[in-house]
Amino acid sequence: MKKIAIFCIPAHGHTNPMLPVAKELVKLGNIVKFYSFDEFESKIKNTGAEFVSCTRFLPEINEIEEANLKKSSNTEMTIQDIRITLAMDDFLDKEFKSFCPDTVFTDAVCFWGKLNAWKHNVPLVVSTSTFAFNQLSATYMKNSPHELWDMIGGLPKISKELKTLEPYGYHVKRTLDLIQNDNNTDTIVYTTKDYQPYGESYTDHYIFVGPSVFSETQPDKKKNRPMIYISMGTVVNEKPEFYKNCIEAFKDKEIDVIMSCGKNMSEYVPADLPDNIKAYTSVDQLDVLSKADAFITHCGMNSVSESLYMATPMIFYPQTGEQHAVARRASEIGAGIMLNNDSSSGIYEAAEKLLGDQKYSLAAKKCSEDFRSAPGPKAAAEFIENAPHNVTGTNFLDELNKAQGKFIVLYWIAVIALIVLMGILVGWKFVWIIGVTAGILSYPIGQAVQKKNYASLVKKRKRNYAQNKTTRYFFPLHKR
Ligand code: UDP
Repeated sequence: MKKIAIFCIPAHGHTNPMLPVAKELVKLGNIVKFYSFDEFESKIKNTGAEFVSCTRFLPEINEIEEANLKKSSNTEMTIQDIRITLAMDDFLDKEFKSFCPDTVFTDAVCFWGKLNAWKHNVPLVVSTSTFAFNQLSATYMKNSPHELWDMIGGLPKISKELKTLEPYGYHVKRTLDLIQNDNNTDTIVYTTKDYQPYGESYTDHYIFVGPSVFSETQPDKKKNRPMIYISMGTVVNEKPEFYKNCIEAFKDKEIDVIMSCGKNMSEYVPADLPDNIKAYTSVDQLDVLSKADAFITHCGMNSVSESLYMATPMIFYPQTGEQHAVARRASEIGAGIMLNNDSSSGIYEAAEKLLGDQKYSLAAKKCSEDFRSAPGPKAAAEFIENAPHNVTGTNFLDELNKAQGKFIVLYWIAVIALIVLMGILVGWKFVWIIGVTAGILSYPIGQAVQKKNYASLVKKRKRNYAQNKTTRYFFPLHKR
């Protein structure tokens, strides 16, 4: 029996995956305290964990800050995260001293959970509600110019805010130290190793437990005509223009449409909808997806996982860098297509394409089978009980970087040799062209070589593993 302190930010997408893990921890006989916010009280109490309200520590925010948060500004979220940490400092100091947790289980972007685990020297397990991102999988992110501007423009504000942590005993040099997934922190990821981009590059500090979908329901797509489900998630879902185009695209077509439009729906969705289109503030998404033939989604990690779980192919309409990463991976496995044109005709054409080719639903079905055979929240709870994990062996990323380093040295030796050959021996005046071209090509060639090196390292590891020559470092704790 252990004492476990759980922390999460006030967001459903982050809290939901931790709930079944908390329930399993309680079932296993642990004493579990879940530090969260009043909105989540009943959900948390249902797990059997003790709910500890932290609502009084949420700072008042002004209109500009609220608008920034609505736009998913990473800078604003980081600043608010730091302010909540400071507001909770005294309270959590006392809690850590009286409760004395054996392990902290915290959401990856919940600063007060991580920082207090470090400050009080308590083993830490991180919950990652998206993919795990390291130097390889981070290449899946595609930040919009707006996000890049937010990140760059926000740096001075964030570093000023970070300094306020120091007097409280929280030592952080860069925000990246707080939010990145590193290979030495015990981490739970709610997907499978096959679906995680570059899944084999993670150490056994990572456990891939499968998506946090709480449903035994099997997909059932039998009906007279296709059904399309549309949702932009729960955070940034006020998209009047987009909903208008969807209504225009499908009105009076031989397709049923269900739209989930968020709590302020009446402000931007007309009441008089065509007969074949129904709009709701919120729906039972898993139930709808079990019947849907296509899902037009903003590509939140949960929504896409739920769609794959219910074998529903998707039309991807990502809005943020993280959502782009999710869309790219789901598209890579063939379970959907990008919405490149969000006009009404673009939306209709994308739907026609998706519904007209079975390969998308077959790919989603294959992934559904993979997800349904994952070890689930029980394995996550056992992983937390057994933390900290002692992992030995060579680091996959180190090996990969070594191979990449070798390639870069050889590449530039070859370029210099060519410049010397053409310049001195042939006497060509424009040898600088070789240098410039080599510089431009170095990135795409480097990426291609890295992919090849990754594939051959994975092959080698698997071979060694089969022959029992390697430690379990490179492979999941729970093999299916
Ligand atoms: N959701 C729901 N009903 C709805 C819309 C969304 O239950 O009408 C749930 C959905 O099942 C998912 C979560 O809200 O679990 C959305 O999480 P996601 O990560 O996809 O997006 P976010 O809302 O965090 O942007």
